[in-house]
Amino acid sequence: MSDVSDLSSDSAVYKTLLESTKAIPWKIDWQTMTFAYIGPQIEPLLGWSQESWYSANDWAMRIHPEDRDHVVNFCIAQSKAGVDHEADYRALTKENGYVWIRDVVHVVRNDQGEVESLIGFMFDISERKKTEEKLLILQKELEALSFKDGLTGIANRRQLDASLDREWESARSSRSPLSLLLFDVDFFKQFNDLYGHVQGDKCLTDIAQTLNLAAVGPRDIVARFGGEEFVILLPETDALGAQRVAKRCQRLIEKQAIAHAQSPHGQLVTASIGIGTVVPGQHMSTTDFIQAVDRQLYAAKQNGRNRIEMVQIGT
Ligand code: GH3
Ligand code: MG
Ligand code: MG
Repeated sequence: MSDVSDLSSDSAVYKTLLESTKAIPWKIDWQTMTFAYIGPQIEPLLGWSQESWYSANDWAMRIHPEDRDHVVNFCIAQSKAGVDHEADYRALTKENGYVWIRDVVHVVRNDQGEVESLIGFMFDISERKKTEEKLLILQKELEALSFKDGLTGIANRRQLDASLDREWESARSSRSPLSLLLFDVDFFKQFNDLYGHVQGDKCLTDIAQTLNLAAVGPRDIVARFGGEEFVILLPETDALGAQRVAKRCQRLIEKQAIAHAQSPHGQLVTASIGIGTVVPGQHMSTTDFIQAVDRQLYAAKQNGRNRIEMVQIGT
């Protein structure tokens, strides 16, 4: 246990302790808004000498301009309210770089309850920030991947469902037509049997790319519906516009000329297409709409394949 006579040696111990931690201690006098103290560790971290930290303004000016206003305003407001707080910001280095800092602040009050000073610790959190940034990028990549079809790289069913829900609402509120094209590759089982699955996969990827070329509207979505079935969603497109896109797809697939020795349509790969155009009303769901388009696709198959069949609902 120490007694009063040990105080001076105690404070030497505390000083050594404070100045040997990685966190940088500091104290600001509230009345004068000047630094009463800042640890010498600040210099190796930011390059600014210990003596150059004179006023709170020096601190504010050494915050990245994008962080400065909100951090300074937040810290002043919290301090005035007498609330302990912490803030993350980019502190500027003397060499024109920056270091991510977490400043943890304790508000010291006098006996009258008035704010007397602020004391705090600055922590170098740049490693943590780098990890967080990497994680954020990975998370975005993962999110993008979860909406992509693994084989063809176009939108998957999940993305289609999300887009269809969104466009359905938009078409309903603006009373504009929404068209959906449903594609099914003809005699694809035979294609696989003839040429093998690897070639089958390539064929699907090529068709996906072709459909992507044919749908040029900024909100158009080309998606793999499943297996050898694809969808093109065309917002603000009437039956005529949808038919035009379907015919363009047919032509492009024909031009692609993927050999299919057992196909009666020029011994080439073809697709059947069902089209639906709707101005969504209260009594129809997206599922009803897809079913209606699927019936058109079925009719196209029944009527000989490599054909387009279409229906208009409420337009
Ligand atoms: P239809 O003209 O009536 O459409 O006949 P089809 O042979 O195309 O229809 P069916 O539904 O009988 O066959 C679809 C085939 O698509 C069966 C399945 O093996 C194949 N398929 C589904 N997904 C894939 C895939 O990812 N890769 C490959 N290579 N084949 C697939
Ligand atoms: Mg099929
Ligand atoms: Mg098929």
